[in-house]
Amino acid sequence: MQLSKYAKDFINEEYINGLIGTKPDAARFKEVLDKSLAKEALTVEECSVLINATAPKQIEQIYEAARELKKRVYGNRIVLFAPLYIGNYCINDCAYCGFRRSNKDSVRRTLNPKEIIEQVEALEKMGQKRLILVFGEHPSYNAEFIAEAVRLTYQTRVGHGEIRRVNINAAPLSIEDYKTVKASGIGTYQVFQETYHHETYQTIHPANTRKADYAWRLDALSRAMEAGIDDVGIGALFGLTDWRFEVLGLVTHARHLQESWGVGPHTISFPRLQPASGVKLDESTLVNDEDFKRLVAIIRLSVPYTGMIMTCRESTEIRRELMGFGISQIDAGTRLELGGYTETPKNGQEQHKEQFMLGDMRSLEEVTRELLTDGYIPSFCTACYRLGRTGEVFMEFAIPGFIERFCTPNAMTTLQEYLVDYAGPETRMVGEKLIAGQLAIMPDGKLKEGLEEKLRLIRETEQRDLYS
Ligand code: SAM
Ligand code: SF4
Repeated sequence: MQLSKYAKDFINEEYINGLIGTKPDAARFKEVLDKSLAKEALTVEECSVLINATAPKQIEQIYEAARELKKRVYGNRIVLFAPLYIGNYCINDCAYCGFRRSNKDSVRRTLNPKEIIEQVEALEKMGQKRLILVFGEHPSYNAEFIAEAVRLTYQTRVGHGEIRRVNINAAPLSIEDYKTVKASGIGTYQVFQETYHHETYQTIHPANTRKADYAWRLDALSRAMEAGIDDVGIGALFGLTDWRFEVLGLVTHARHLQESWGVGPHTISFPRLQPASGVKLDESTLVNDEDFKRLVAIIRLSVPYTGMIMTCRESTEIRRELMGFGISQIDAGTRLELGGYTETPKNGQEQHKEQFMLGDMRSLEEVTRELLTDGYIPSFCTACYRLGRTGEVFMEFAIPGFIERFCTPNAMTTLQEYLVDYAGPETRMVGEKLIAGQLAIMPDGKLKEGLEEKLRLIRETEQRDLYS
């Protein structure tokens, strides 16, 4: 199968291993932190300086800097989404995953069009506006099948509910197949490398499976870019090998995309290995909470302009704590069972039906309320993508004042929609208070007047989807 024009194995293990372990001197450590706070992306070597800084005081400084950078770059918005599992048949046999083909306990299912519509309607009734469709790897989940699921999702509407951005997490495709999927109007295409460490990769992905092809997967998002998908998401599954190696692998990958295509990944994901049906975890490489916190902060500081996604795999406590240093997107109200948004008992998890166990089972409303209470603006905004502000022309960070002019007001109008259409009285009260507080600190002028008018229209009329 044809690789992209920039295909190469850019993971140089000797180089990466050589970077791990030498403690930095104080001057070099400060130099790197300052560069990051100036919103400049770090090199792989500079990222290793933060990884090797293990003195408690330095770790504190890393946390502090991550918090500061997050505020400077993103403000206090957190974008919300939910995953929708479409099918869990899988021809691969990944050692860590409940969907792997040798797991005979797994209940297999592919949602049919009617069932997809039912799930999307249920998600819309919660107030979701952004979904990520998730697929096992199977010949029946080909590009046309994925594209059809995307089209169905966009077409499904209930009341004021609609899905305005559909992202994908599925197997790597060929350039032609990515073009088919792109034509259905997807947002981001995610493919996680799982581990950048070659030997570990080969051990957990059996040789007779499609996923065993490390190079095909490493090149997956370059092929997506070549096909014209300019929002792509990279990720590593933390817990398979030394987390320090994976962080350096992620940064190397981000830089490779930036250098090849003039645009880095739109998002980075850092799922942490969770218990799964029939899976025995190798405890020796699992990442503890302290190291996890460090790696999230270090990723934030290394790639200041890349969105960071933290999912419901993590516990409510960890999610709350880490929100402040670097996270830009979270899922909420998540169910992983196929059909789980209409069929599962409210608080139950059925391990044999899902890919792995969740740490945060709260509803979208509970998560939204906590965010509001903690002073974040929960955002369902999809404006940039719909106005073609993606990839190379993505202006969020390039244009001074863009966040104040567009992102914050759009976050507020989408929050207002949520409060009016879906929230209970208590959440609405906290939300209205937050909106009033945001308006109070906005300078008077056209921008504020325009925003106040949009908020009024949402509150008093049936008009929705008002963005700039
Ligand atoms: N089947 C496609 C693939 O493997 O690329 C689609 C994605 S898979 C359904 C989504 C992601 O879930 C995987 O890329 C992997 O990183 C993650 N995952 C698998 N097993 C996991 C586990 N036990 N705990 C946490 N995340 C897991
Ligand atoms: Fe299949 Fe993806 Fe699970 Fe591997 S991670 S077994 S490819 S669903």
